[in-house]
This record gives sequence, C-alpha cells and structure tokens, in this order.
Amino acid sequence: MRTLDEAGLLDLWERGQDRHPIDRALLLCAWARPDVAPERFAQLPLGVVNTGLLRMRAALFGARVEVQLDCEHCGEHLELALDIAPLLADATAQDERADVELQGFRFRAPHSRDLAALAHETDAQAAALRLLERCCVARPDGPAALADVLSEAEEQLEAADPLADLQLSVACEACAQTTQASLDAGSLLWDDVHHHARGLLGQVHSLAQAYGWSEGEVLALSPTRRAAYLDLLRA
Ligand SMILES: [Zn+2]
Repeated sequence: MRTLDEAGLLDLWERGQDRHPIDRALLLCAWARPDVAPERFAQLPLGVVNTGLLRMRAALFGARVEVQLDCEHCGEHLELALDIAPLLADATAQDERADVELQGFRFRAPHSRDLAALAHETDAQAAALRLLERCCVARPDGPAALADVLSEAEEQLEAADPLADLQLSVACEACAQTTQASLDAGSLLWDDVHHHARGLLGQVHSLAQAYGWSEGEVLALSPTRRAAYLDLLRA
C-alpha cells in the first residue's frame, strides 16, 4: 500500500473543503496523478479521471468499497460490498480514448468541463443531448439530427470509455427488484480523505492539549508512536 503523506493529506482536505464535487474530483485527481499537468485534468476523458481516483483510493484505503443506498422500489436500506480491484485490472493505462464515428458524426469522449456545463440541467434527456452536442467534433452534410443517433452514440461512447460512468445494479432482497446506482469515484475518495483528515486533527488536538506540542511536532511522530501516547492519555 502507498504510504500516506499526512501533512499533504491535511493540506488537500483544507483546499477541497469548499469546492464543488466536480472541482474537488479534479483536485483529488491532480493529487493522484502528479505525472499529469494540472491544466490538462479538466479535459481528460472521465474514465481516465475515475481510474486515477480509484487507483488512489485502492492504494491508500484499500480496494473494498461499502455502498449504501435505498431500494428505489420499496425503500429498503441496501448495503453492498464492492471490490474495485477488478475494475482497475481492466482499465487501460492510456490517457486517450478513441473518437466514436457514427453515421457521419464524430464524437470525442466526455470530460469534466462537459459535466460542469451540464450541472444545472435537470431534464435527463436534454442533458444527454447537450452532452452529445458538446462532444460532437464533426457532423455529416445534410439534415441529419443528433437526436437520431443519441442512444447509439451513448452506447458507443460508453464502450470507448467504460469507467467514465460507473453504474451498479443492486438487487433488493425484500422485493427482488433491482436498483441502479452510480459510483462517484470523486466522492468516494473524498469521503475517505475527509474521514482520515478529521481523525488526524483529532489526534493533533488531543496530543497538543496534553503535551503542548505543535501540529508539525505531532505529525512528525510515527502513527505507532502517536497511538501509544494516545493510549497513555486514555489510561
Ligand atoms: Zn426493494
């Protein structure tokens, strides 16, 4: 497992606090992928962003994910344990995705700026069409309409970038129906970063109060030594 830079994590947490989830995912992605220039993230295919986020999640906090949701048919509370390692094993190492060509149209893979532009669109069908418009880089001569190729284009774009939209089907034991949910890689990693940062701040708080150490001094201690001092304080 990758070792955690705790001061770096607290800094990241502080910078991510007030951001919109799309922006926060890009901040996390920049942290996960220091090999990529920061200005490129907003225009990387969504599957590339999600792969970076999930890899970071697996490396720092493990590959097991607990998903909780309510059945959309009967309201039963559902819990699901998911292993993201197989998703990552299938993910390509390439940062480019092939364009989709369909009946004279050509579409590029959607990226984070597209999602941001659609964030206020409440109608799903209208959002899908606007997304396709934004991703259309060439169109045929004549009267062909984007709406006519919408569902096929969506299917092919999904096949070209499978991790762009992580859909889960969860079966309900109470009513035997299936609920669709999407796994948001940015929120998933952010929740862990948030949880971990709050835990670290709690440790700093307790040790600073007891011994008068600074935040830097507390974080400079190894997690094992910190835990030992916290045990002594509780004893
Ligand atoms: Zn149900």
